[in-house]
Amino acid sequence: MSFRQKIKSIPGLASSLRLARGNIKAIYSKLAVKNKQKYICPICNYRGPFSDYKDDSYPIFDTACPRCDLYERHRLQFLVMKELAKRYDFKRMSALHFAPEPQFRKAYERWFESYDTADIENSEVDYRVDIRKMQFPSSSYHIVYASHVLEHVDDDDAALKEVYRILKSGGFAVLPVPVVSPITVEYPVPNKYEFGHVRAPGVDYFNRYKNIFDRVEVWDSSQFCYEFQLYTYEDRSKYPSETSPYRQPMEGTQFMDYVPVCYKV
Ligand SMILES: [Zn+2]
Repeated sequence: MSFRQKIKSIPGLASSLRLARGNIKAIYSKLAVKNKQKYICPICNYRGPFSDYKDDSYPIFDTACPRCDLYERHRLQFLVMKELAKRYDFKRMSALHFAPEPQFRKAYERWFESYDTADIENSEVDYRVDIRKMQFPSSSYHIVYASHVLEHVDDDDAALKEVYRILKSGGFAVLPVPVVSPITVEYPVPNKYEFGHVRAPGVDYFNRYKNIFDRVEVWDSSQFCYEFQLYTYEDRSKYPSETSPYRQPMEGTQFMDYVPVCYKV
């Protein structure tokens, strides 16, 4: 059943939607009741409701798994990696993971022949690395995994070229960013309220990957079961706001997430 059909199947919701335009909380509460206990976390196998991310300026609903504390973006990335595991022999592949979530370590250490971690600031990794200029020789890794990193990097063209350089031929890079804008907006200065983001990417952002890599495949939330909850539920109509002065408004309350996989032939 499509999301639109699901909405229509909930008694009284269609009229509520019209009445409560802009009131995401009211709309969401009906969805939450319908979906309660239904979600499955593909990372830790938890079953039940997910919790909201509560922040004064950015409430996001049904996002966090209460067991592993990971969000919809992690669940989508994990599912995409499981699909890629069907195409590749991960046991013979080396991986470099930027800004690694510790919850992924157990799985990825088991999956890959070798698993290294990297970060520009965090010292609890194998390598301190500036993604714009890396110390690794060319063709070092089969897989480079950097989730929600590039929206913090001013010279992302240099970063993409470096990722391509250190990839082995036949390898791939997984480079998701938060898609939070109708089109990509570059910020004049890093936004401290967004953890130092230098841009708000739109789906068009992945065109930059296509300029560097030989092929880019973009996975999205709609390609997997609804029970994994891979969407972002939030109100983006309020942008631009005081804390996000450069973001552009987006209509609707349900947003897809994306996992671009960038190949080096
Ligand atoms: Zn979980």
